[in-house]
Amino acid sequence: MNAWRLAYEGFDPAVEGLREALCTLGNGYMATRGAAPESTAGGVHYPGTYAAGCYNRLSNTVAGEIIENESLVNLPNWLPLTFRAGDGPWLGQAGVELLDQRLELDLRRGVLTRRLRVRDGAGRTTRVTQRRFVHMRHPHLCGLQTTLVPEDWSGTLRVRSVLDATVENSGVARYRGLAGRHFAPVCADPVGEDAVLLVVETNQSHVRIAQAARTRVMRGGRRVGVAREPVEEDGRVGHELGLEVRAGHAITIEKLVTTFTSRDATIADPAVEAVQQLGWVEDFDQLLAEHVLAWRQLWQRFRVSLRGRGERVLRVVRLHLFHLLQTVSEHSVDLDVGVPARGLHGEAYRGHVLWDELFVFPILNVRVPLLTRALLCYRYRRLPWARHAARVAGHIGAGYPWQSGSDGREETQHLHLNPMSGRWTSDPTHRQRHIGLAVAYNVWQYYQVTGDREFVTYYGAEMLLEIARFFADLAGYDHNRGRYVVPGVIGPDEFHTGYPEAPEQGVDNNAYTNVMTVWVMLRALEALSLLPDWRRAELTETLGLRPEELRRWEDISHRMYVPMHDEGIISQFEGYERLAEFDWEAYRARYADVRRLDRILESEGDSPNRYKVSKQADVLMLFYLLSADELGELFDRLGYRLEPDTIPRNIEYYLARTSHGSTLSAVVHAWLLARNHREQALEYFIQALDADVADIQGGTTPEGIHLAAMAGSVDVLQRCFGGVETRGDTLRLNPYWPPQLGTLEFDLRYREHPLTLRITGKGVRISAGAGMQRPIRLHCRDETALLSAGETVEFPVP
Ligand code: BGC
Repeated sequence: MNAWRLAYEGFDPAVEGLREALCTLGNGYMATRGAAPESTAGGVHYPGTYAAGCYNRLSNTVAGEIIENESLVNLPNWLPLTFRAGDGPWLGQAGVELLDQRLELDLRRGVLTRRLRVRDGAGRTTRVTQRRFVHMRHPHLCGLQTTLVPEDWSGTLRVRSVLDATVENSGVARYRGLAGRHFAPVCADPVGEDAVLLVVETNQSHVRIAQAARTRVMRGGRRVGVAREPVEEDGRVGHELGLEVRAGHAITIEKLVTTFTSRDATIADPAVEAVQQLGWVEDFDQLLAEHVLAWRQLWQRFRVSLRGRGERVLRVVRLHLFHLLQTVSEHSVDLDVGVPARGLHGEAYRGHVLWDELFVFPILNVRVPLLTRALLCYRYRRLPWARHAARVAGHIGAGYPWQSGSDGREETQHLHLNPMSGRWTSDPTHRQRHIGLAVAYNVWQYYQVTGDREFVTYYGAEMLLEIARFFADLAGYDHNRGRYVVPGVIGPDEFHTGYPEAPEQGVDNNAYTNVMTVWVMLRALEALSLLPDWRRAELTETLGLRPEELRRWEDISHRMYVPMHDEGIISQFEGYERLAEFDWEAYRARYADVRRLDRILESEGDSPNRYKVSKQADVLMLFYLLSADELGELFDRLGYRLEPDTIPRNIEYYLARTSHGSTLSAVVHAWLLARNHREQALEYFIQALDADVADIQGGTTPEGIHLAAMAGSVDVLQRCFGGVETRGDTLRLNPYWPPQLGTLEFDLRYREHPLTLRITGKGVRISAGAGMQRPIRLHCRDETALLSAGETVEFPVP
């Protein structure tokens, strides 16, 4: 088995969409699904190209309501390339038989190779090898190289290479009721003799997108002249080439494409830039070498190895890192983009940004903190909308939207289609206020890992303070209880959108929201005290922060209400204990897959609001985000007791009531079970690894990867099994390493030290690279040590 390769044999229409999503190539600026170049969107294929942050808003009427949808735009397709022997049928049309096919994604080099043999009705057999890249060093550049060998025929080969502006957003069947034509053509022109330029403009956001494509023919490594005819028809522009080929002799067609949009920095006009930069590039092989070098350097920073029995796991871990690095990269830094939940790999969630970055940043923080900082700035820049949303809801501070797109307004749909019942039902998930808590948590984590006070001073503190304000205002004081309460929210478990009698009004006192609110109050106060005097004074003045607000935060941190039942079970929300137990057995007998119980129950005229069922970890998220010590301190402060068995009892209680309807669920449960139920933890970890490669949600991966589950699964290795925790000014190592996984080695950066960690079932070894950095403090179980540059420290772990 090759731990750097994902390969598919043959052609299976049923899984083509999945392969296309998993074989997506991207570089943080843009990405293109692994669809065959000759394919068009339909029941089997879905070629899609997306540029990070390129959104457009459309409205139309669905189920009697006007629906607005802002979507990541499917850009013109740069791939189309097809051929025919003589006047035979074109590849991709009826009459061409596929004899064999192999698709191979090389994770190390970022190259997708497709090998196929085809035969037409006249018995002409052609062997084809196609390689492509979406350049990791030059983010605007893509390349497709096609080598054809006529095996048993000689004659005229005709090749068509075009840019296709007829595409729409239609990748997700559930959204097909929504308008999907996001752009209109501006121009389609020839450029010199071998290139074309296509410019389109989105019809609401007015983003101009320019693609320039050059197609050349090479024989024996040399460019050859060919007869060309321009193609300009129905939104497609390009060339048709005619050339003579001989049996057994290879011919290579190179298509290089540049893409620019009017969102790009440092350009005047995307069209000028696309043409100009296309003129700078030479041949495919030279560009490929630069691309491979960029990937090699990236993999040095994201190195991870698992020796021994962990090899099988390693391939998927690499695949997950690969897609993470293709979705967000150093090319994202100047783009003003967030982390789209489904990557740049498909159209699910319409390319929106949700709380998923919570699972992604821990991987980036210790490798490319610069990138996390940039992605956090996406949130910072959207403070005005978050403030506006808070005002509209009658609150102060900043209320971040559950789903965010271009400008930071709430993008959560109001209606969604249940494919099981065919009904459009209302979607109140914008009540997931906890998104703001995640933003605050991410700001703090970034600071914990990097110690970047400048960031806190200029951006982080302001976000924390505004978020704290919002939640302090959301919390009301209940005089009867003598505690603060938070009404009308939805927790991470999206199944409970309200009480059975008021199903869309949210639930009261979602424990996760309430406890994390306390955590945010404390962090906001801490951030304020960390600031240099001048900045504290500035922010206090600018935000009009009043002393009584700070007193209220302090008070909330002592008197927030946390619902509980059954002596020590933290209730997911107030009144949870009154809900009916769910008959899991009966439903598992009736349905092959009960993960999306919300859809099943709605199709039966019922609702999960009536039952003790969760889509994913909710209360349990507390144990995922906060260490037992931290949580214990919070509970003490609140005057609640966290007994030694509280955590395991709650895990057991909620695990028995969770359907795992989100891929995030397996990540969190692997984490929670690692300490006391290693075998079970490994099962969930394997599930998290399978989430996309095996498409375990039954058809969701073709609509885009699950980026948080991908990154989260790697984080299970790093922070959970590997036990690497960054808190205070100490790097804590507390592994619960399953020896079944062999030996883990990975690199990270902490407080400017390049570190290499080696973790086995017996202990941890940590080495710091040479340099002038100040020593760092390490803590493992009861031992502490200082690690200086160039040194190695080992801790045995029994
Ligand atoms: C989960 C959310 C998540 C979203 C995007 C949903 O199924 O419930 O927590 O943010 O998917 O990944």
